[in-house]
Amino acid sequence: MTLSPLRRLLGYFSRHKAALALGALCVAASGAFSLLKPLIVGNAVNELAKAVTRGALVRYGLLLVGAAALEGFFLFLQRRIIIGESRRIEYEMRNDFYAHLQSLPVSYYQEQRTGDLLSRATNDLASVRMLVGPAVMHVLSSLIVVAGAFVMMLRINREMSLLALAGVPVVVWMVQYFGQRIHLKYKAVQDYFGDISARVQENLAGVRVVRAFGREHEEQETFARMNREFVERNRTVIRLTALFYPGLHAMIGVLFGIIFFVGSRQMIRGTLSIGSFIAFQLYLGRMVWPLIALGWVTNLFQRGMASMVRLHEVWSVEPDVRADSGEPLDAPLRGEIDIRDLTFTYGGASRPTLRDIDLHVDSGQTIGIVGRTGSGKSTLLALITRTFEPPPGTIFIDGRPIESFPPSQLRHSIGAVPQETFLFSESIAENIRFGRRNASSDEVQSSAAMAGLSGDVVTFPQGLETMIGERGITLSGGQKQRTAIARALVRGPAILILDDALSAVDTNTEEQILRSLREVRKGRTALIVSHRVSSVKDADHIIVIDDGRIVERGTHDALLARNGYYADLYHRQTLEEEIEELA
Ligand code: ATP
Ligand code: MG
Repeated sequence: MTLSPLRRLLGYFSRHKAALALGALCVAASGAFSLLKPLIVGNAVNELAKAVTRGALVRYGLLLVGAAALEGFFLFLQRRIIIGESRRIEYEMRNDFYAHLQSLPVSYYQEQRTGDLLSRATNDLASVRMLVGPAVMHVLSSLIVVAGAFVMMLRINREMSLLALAGVPVVVWMVQYFGQRIHLKYKAVQDYFGDISARVQENLAGVRVVRAFGREHEEQETFARMNREFVERNRTVIRLTALFYPGLHAMIGVLFGIIFFVGSRQMIRGTLSIGSFIAFQLYLGRMVWPLIALGWVTNLFQRGMASMVRLHEVWSVEPDVRADSGEPLDAPLRGEIDIRDLTFTYGGASRPTLRDIDLHVDSGQTIGIVGRTGSGKSTLLALITRTFEPPPGTIFIDGRPIESFPPSQLRHSIGAVPQETFLFSESIAENIRFGRRNASSDEVQSSAAMAGLSGDVVTFPQGLETMIGERGITLSGGQKQRTAIARALVRGPAILILDDALSAVDTNTEEQILRSLREVRKGRTALIVSHRVSSVKDADHIIVIDDGRIVERGTHDALLARNGYYADLYHRQTLEEEIEELA
């Protein structure tokens, strides 16, 4: 479903049309009462010019106060209703935007910078809200007041009204001319703010790397440069607005001068009463602010639309396969994996990352996967979890093509430890429970134990409840990895996937974890990627991937006998170990 930015915006309006219509009525009412005031003053002047009586003074005084009070009352209602509704629309948009972000394919985040997305979700959403609330309200009220005032002016004096009308095209032209330019410059400002946010976000997240490489100074300079550019871009917007408003005021001043001149001559000729002349001037004066507001509001509109377009850019990205699409399997997954003739190329890549992969994994089997760095091991795992979509008809689970049943069901049955650990800034226990929300504390504890984390946890101030800082910054690399393993284990998954998940622990800890995993692995399918032969040598079946192809396969002993890549890797690593032990 593709919508234009405007259609999308109108969709939100239409969901709130009742309240907005009520708000519009209040706008009209407050406009009408404000237009009554010059009429009252004009009549008062005419009557008082004949004779000043207490009765007339009180009457007109009360009329004026009444009109002002009613104008104020409806002004209050109009703001409450329309601005309040704009907050509600903003709320819905923010939720929709976040839900959309959650639904986007993983590949989208490869091309996008987080900071830029955040700037869209905050800054741009705010300027869309300005469009939805204040801009709509001011346009309505300005149009009503300008049109109403003009009708009243026509009734007072046709010649002067037409003169005043001649000024309107100039105002419209100015608004158009400046509005267009302000809009373009403003978009440049917003885009650049996205760039700065992205850079700062990345830099703060990577603060350790920045420090380690002693790049604070350069980073600060780059930031200062970007900051300067940002101010410069803002200043071009300011230069335009600074010309715009005084220009408009000057124009209106000239108009007043001309009207005063024409009106005075008519009064001398006796064709215009003083009261009418005053009322006319008041009406003209009443038009000034709405006209300027219209100029200001065009800005809000232009900005709001520019921001809406930026939000729309994200909104129009097709969501990932819906997590609940497809026909669910009746039985829980057994974890039998069948890969047939799988060739896979990343979007944008020129050659396939995986070629002609054939692999059968029985339910409950453990498969070891080794291979040079960049050979495609993680890619294979990402296809099995549908983090990236495999070509249809290449991967089967329990005999069903993977694309035929809901990704949520698949992922529910998988416990994966990705190569790059990502932990949230919560406690260790919460991070483990991320694997299964309703896991009891016993289950959390035993998963932590199986992942070999118990020994470390007792040294932490609050045990499992210890907070671990952003992305687990207070944990060692190996502790992070083992927390991630516990998170996968607590799911009790049918398929366990470890992508180089023991790379940051020493061989002793590795052995201990593998031993407890052997217990857990019973009845579960396990895929273990590793650079270390020791992690995979007990697997039922080992495959060696090189440049996207399976080049060797078999058990540990069979592969040793083949004397290929695997045997070579094994001999080198045992030699290293022996040297280590000697040292
Ligand atoms: P390592 O042992 O270093 O983890 P690996 O075997 O897991 O390596 P992959 O991560 O599967 O290797 O990468 C295989 C190839 O695919 C690499 O050449 C890499 O550049 C490319 N690649 C990986 N991820 C992507 C991606 N998201 N988009 C495009 N190309 C990718
Ligand atoms: Mg990898």
